[in-house]
Amino acid sequence: MATFIKLYNTKTRAVDVFIPIQKGEVSIYSCGPTVYHYAHIGNLRAYVFADVLRRMFVHAGYTVNHVINITDVGHNTDDGDNGEDKMEKGSRREGKSAWELALFYEEAFKKDLEMLSIDTSMYTFPRATDNIPEQIALIEVLEEKGYTYTTSDGIYFDTSKFPHYADLAKLDIKGLQSGARVEENHDKKNITDFALWKFSPKNEKRQMEWDSPWGVGFPGWHIECSAMSMKYLGDHFDIHTGGIDHIPVHHTNEIAQSECATGETYVNYWMHVNFLNDNTGKMSKSHGDFLTLSSLMHQNHSPLAYKYFLLTTHYRKEVSFSYEALLGAEVAYQKLVTWCSDHKTTTTVTNETYLTEFEKALYDDLATPSCIATMWKLIKDDTVSDAVTYATIIEMGNILGLPLHSAKKKESESIFKAFPLADKRKLAKEAKDYAQADEIRKEIEAMGFIIKDNPDGSYSILEM
Ligand code: AMP
Ligand code: ZN
Repeated sequence: MATFIKLYNTKTRAVDVFIPIQKGEVSIYSCGPTVYHYAHIGNLRAYVFADVLRRMFVHAGYTVNHVINITDVGHNTDDGDNGEDKMEKGSRREGKSAWELALFYEEAFKKDLEMLSIDTSMYTFPRATDNIPEQIALIEVLEEKGYTYTTSDGIYFDTSKFPHYADLAKLDIKGLQSGARVEENHDKKNITDFALWKFSPKNEKRQMEWDSPWGVGFPGWHIECSAMSMKYLGDHFDIHTGGIDHIPVHHTNEIAQSECATGETYVNYWMHVNFLNDNTGKMSKSHGDFLTLSSLMHQNHSPLAYKYFLLTTHYRKEVSFSYEALLGAEVAYQKLVTWCSDHKTTTTVTNETYLTEFEKALYDDLATPSCIATMWKLIKDDTVSDAVTYATIIEMGNILGLPLHSAKKKESESIFKAFPLADKRKLAKEAKDYAQADEIRKEIEAMGFIIKDNPDGSYSILEM
C-alpha cells in the first residue's frame, strides 16, 4: 500500500495526507447527476475525476466503497428553494412523465460513463426517490433536536443554530444577509436557511410527491445527499466529491444537516472539481446549447480522446473547451493508441522507475497531467526496451482508466493530416483571403472530409 496519498481538502484549504477512517478502506460519495436531461461534458468531468480518484485508491491497495447518487426529485431550477423542480419542468419539455424522464436520463448517464471507460459495476447508484423514508427519518431527527421550523411552503433548517455553518465555504453570512433581496426572504428566518421538505402546491398535483408527518410533499435536494450518503457509507465517511459550484450551498447544507443530526463529523475530505467552460462561461444544462458526449461523437471524436483531453488538465484548474483544443488532445491520444497497437507484446515486466514517478504524481493530489507527461517520457526513452515500455504504458493506462491494450487505431488516420490544413484555412479566413481558404477546403474534401465552421469560431472535421 502506498505510504502517502495527498489530497487537496476544501475543508482545510490545504493538500492533506489521506488517513482513512478504517485501515485499508475508503468510502467516497460523489454528488450524482440531476436526471432531467443528458449530462453535459462539464458534468462528465466531475465523474472522470471521481473515477480516477477511485482507481488511484484501488491501485494503492484500498477497498473502495463508492456511491454516486441519482437526483431524480427535489433539485430546483435555482439550486435553492424558490425555483421549479427540474424533473417536473423536464417532464413538460419532453411530454414524458417525470418518472419516465428520470429512468431515461439515468440510463443515458450510465451509458456515457461506460463510453468513458468508467465501470459502472464498481459503483452504487441510489436514487433519491427510492430513499424517501430515510430522508423523512433524518428530518424527524433534526426536528426533535430543534433545528427545524415550518413556513407556508415547507419545513426549513435554521442555519443560525449550527455554529460551523460558514466553515466549508468561508461564507460571509452578514454580507449575504445585507445583500439579500426582499422577495428571497419570504418567511425564512435567515437568508441561508433551506428547505428540508417542501409541501406540494395547494392547487396543483405534482407527479412526484409523498406523504410525510408534515403533509404531502417532496424532499429538498440537500437532504437527499445527506440521507443517501449516510445510509450507504455511515454517519462519518472519508471523501465527498462534487463540482466547485456545490461548495457554498449544497455541500454547506449537507454538512449542517448531517452534523446536527448525528453530532459528529460528517466527512473528512471534501474534494471539488473545477469547471469546464466554453466560450460563454461555465457549461450548464440550463443554457440550452450544452455539449454532450454524443455531440462530440457526432463530430467524430472518441469519448476516450475526450477523457484524455480532461486528464491533461489538473482537476482543480478550469478547462476551456474548444474543438481545436479537443483535436489537439485527440491527435496525441491517437499517437498513444497507435504506438501501443504497433508494439503489442505479452511481456508483463514493467519499468519500476517510471511507474514510481507516475504513482508519485498520482498520489500527489491526482496530478494527471504529470502522469501523462511521464507516459510520453517513457515512450521516448530509448534505454527502455519496447516490450517493457509497452507493459508499463498499458499498466499506467489501466490505472487512469484509459484501456490502451484494446484501443484501436483510428481507421482514417488521414484525418490527422487534415488538421494542419484546417488550421491554415482558419488563418486564411482570418486574413480575409477567402480564395485560399476555399482552395484548402477543397483539398480537405479531396481527403474525404468536410470542414464545418462552428458558431464559436472554431471548426470541426467530419468524415464525408
Ligand atoms: P447536476 O447534474 O447539475 O446536479 O451536476 C452534476 C455534477 O456536475 C455536479 O458535481 C456539478 O458540480 C458538476 N458540474 C456541473 N457543471 C459543471 C461544469 N461546467 N464543469 C464541471 N463540473 C460541473
Ligand atoms: Zn449532492
